[in-house]
Amino acid sequence: RRQYATDFSEKEKVAKFHGKKGSDGLYTVSLIEGDGIGPEISQSVKDIFAAAKAPIKWEPVDVTPQLRDGKTTIPAETIKSIEKNKVALKGPLATPIGKGHVSLNLTLRRTFNLFANVRPCRSIAGYKTPYDNVDTVLIRENTEGEYSGIEHVVVDGVVQSIKLITREASERVLRFAFQYAEDVGRLKVRAVHKATIMKMSDGLFLSTADRVAKDFPSVEFDAELLDNTCLKIVTDPTPYNDKVLVMPNLYGDILSDMCAGLIGGLGLTPSGNIGDECSIFEAVHGSAPDIAGKGLANPTALLLSSIMMLRHMELNDHATRIEKAIFDTLAEGKTLTGDLGGKSKTHEYAGAIIKRL
Ligand code: NAD
Repeated sequence: RRQYATDFSEKEKVAKFHGKKGSDGLYTVSLIEGDGIGPEISQSVKDIFAAAKAPIKWEPVDVTPQLRDGKTTIPAETIKSIEKNKVALKGPLATPIGKGHVSLNLTLRRTFNLFANVRPCRSIAGYKTPYDNVDTVLIRENTEGEYSGIEHVVVDGVVQSIKLITREASERVLRFAFQYAEDVGRLKVRAVHKATIMKMSDGLFLSTADRVAKDFPSVEFDAELLDNTCLKIVTDPTPYNDKVLVMPNLYGDILSDMCAGLIGGLGLTPSGNIGDECSIFEAVHGSAPDIAGKGLANPTALLLSSIMMLRHMELNDHATRIEKAIFDTLAEGKTLTGDLGGKSKTHEYAGAIIKRL
């Protein structure tokens, strides 16, 4: 059993990092601090990286939404920064509900074609939850499905929302999932679907999975209905500890939050949005407006996302060192934020991690 939540990405060969070290020996990373608790948790990452002497220079970028040709987009300089650096760390961005601009999270995923969202979720040593052995890896299709944003009013009182599934996007994320399984030695891929009801859309995802599986003979492949997966994971997560779960967009969104609940909540789960050229790492959680500005946020999820980022950049020694300090601090249990039952402020928790570096 690997020791830490994100260390399987050490052997990751898929979606290589294409960025280059500057003449000062540092890599530049675009930083989107985000809304709500974003600036507070980003500050913890910056402080801990500085204390750990990680060879990273942050390039803060602005993602104020812009409307261009009727479409939501982000400032051109931000696009340039991420295209140049090939990697970004991102805090949560708030999305207006039921009106207003298109989600900037979606805009970023589309702009940089971040087709796979990798969401590992592993029990934290020392933090008591109903199960202490959760170790799930979920890969979510990141560009289409119900997130295509194609909605219209048919007549008053009737709206239609299109779930778009293409063979191309399905194949891309499925190949990524199988390659990932091979690279990290987690040799079972399970497609999660609802093709009993969505026979054509999920059916296409599933038949594509069957075909892609043939190109990876060392990886076992099977499929499971989403509702069944939900029931089984909350009843006993152990059978999922050797699998890579891959699924259409919305299912991954919901199932990953459920997995987060099994290990102690959203404050703990990282993710990577992976594309062929660029990748953006971010926590699974949102901007937590209920606790923003109060110094109560748990920065662990963004920190673990930054560890995934370091491993993606092949800065494995720095990743392991910072990760050990985080997990040792959590295991000791003296300096925890409120969501984990502690009384510490965000900066006090970050300070405790820094002392362990
Ligand atoms: P949320 O994840 O922001 O919050 C859900 C609950 O979890 C809240 O009680 C919150 O206080 C708690 N929580 C979340 N992160 C925490 C942390 N790091 N430490 C301690 N507690 C934490 O979800 P929401 O309230 O549904 O969404 C708020 C906003 O965030 C919305 O505008 C939504 O669109 C946006 N959002 C953004 C992203 C993203 O940027 N990727 C993801 C999800 C939601």
